[in-house]
Amino acid sequence: MTDREDTQHKTKIVQAGIGSDPAHGSVPPPLYLSSTYLWPSPSEKGEYDYGRSNNPNRTILADALAELDGGAGAVVTSSGMSAIDLVLNLISADDLVIAPHDCYGGTHRLLTHRAEQGRIRVAFVDQSDKAALDEALAKNPALVMVETPSNPLMRVVDVKAICTAAKSAGAITVVDNTFLTPLRLRPLDLGADIALQSTTKYINGHSDIIGGCVVAKSDDHFEQLTWWANAAGVTASAFDCHQTLRGLRTLALRLDAAESNAMAIAKFLTAQPAVTSVNYPGLPSDPGYDLVAAQQSGPGAMLSFEIAGGLEAATRFCQSLDVFGLAASLGGVESLICLPETMTHRGMAESARREAGISESLLRLSVGIESESDLLTDLAKGFSAI
Ligand SMILES: *Cc1c(COP(=O)(O)O)cnc(C)c1O
Repeated sequence: MTDREDTQHKTKIVQAGIGSDPAHGSVPPPLYLSSTYLWPSPSEKGEYDYGRSNNPNRTILADALAELDGGAGAVVTSSGMSAIDLVLNLISADDLVIAPHDCYGGTHRLLTHRAEQGRIRVAFVDQSDKAALDEALAKNPALVMVETPSNPLMRVVDVKAICTAAKSAGAITVVDNTFLTPLRLRPLDLGADIALQSTTKYINGHSDIIGGCVVAKSDDHFEQLTWWANAAGVTASAFDCHQTLRGLRTLALRLDAAESNAMAIAKFLTAQPAVTSVNYPGLPSDPGYDLVAAQQSGPGAMLSFEIAGGLEAATRFCQSLDVFGLAASLGGVESLICLPETMTHRGMAESARREAGISESLLRLSVGIESESDLLTDLAKGFSAI
């Protein structure tokens, strides 16, 4: 993204829907809770008729999100998971879906169980392994899902290369961009057909809404997704859209602040004797650093690190912190720590966790926008406790 585009985006997301109230001139958009709307006549419906199909708050948010990603249109859904399930409507029964072996746990569960139901076929592949990816693409997938950086190990994959290869195999390409948002990675510009996000995380940014969005590059995909979202009723509520738009306005500021804190924390962690590894692709020593420089406008604010002393030390570390809250989820203004072994990744078999490189003393941070020195002091407290 050029600096000029970046500046325009900042202005657009701050201004989305401002001054759009024709009734009273309210500065931010009013909240339209109506489930149903008056028809001008029995043969003529207005712009809005029924809240599942359409709602002014949802439209304003969708337009802002489509603009941010540079897509033809966006569908705003009730959660990140309903956004992912919505996309599966673009393919037919028995079609093959390729997903990253280290994708979000909820995505792994949904795809696995949809496959068990016989609705789709699924193959989980290490997409950083070119030979493994090529082998999977030779099986004619209908849809290829990409997610970067991975959770919790923060491994980065080459979005453009995967989308190009998947496209020539005839697949629809879908990027789950929850960790980075379109302010850091623009999947549609890198060749993806669809960019989706859990807006629960950075877009809303205040850990008080569950939501999702799907942005389509083409009008055709946008129309199909809109049709299915209405038919299946997975659209988001007016209130959630209103709040999410409010959160979105400060996305650029929040991301800049959180990313700057994350960089300071990553450097601090690297210097700790008790830390055995730091996974943050903003560090020049990280294997993902060059790819981040090539495809992103920043590394984001998620990181993970491993400490010596096993599960006991990791547990003690988490429990001795005051500023970092012990919780799953991410992308809020407040900093959170989690222990994937017993929290976010407990649903995975232990052998699968080890194979994926997730050790019992790996800790994941969602870095917030608090003062950098308070965050560093808090982590130092954790190290004293072990
Ligand atoms: C949280 C998350 C989801 C699921 O979103 P929900 O809003 O919780 O349904 C999907 N993908 C990624 C990468 C996530 O972090």
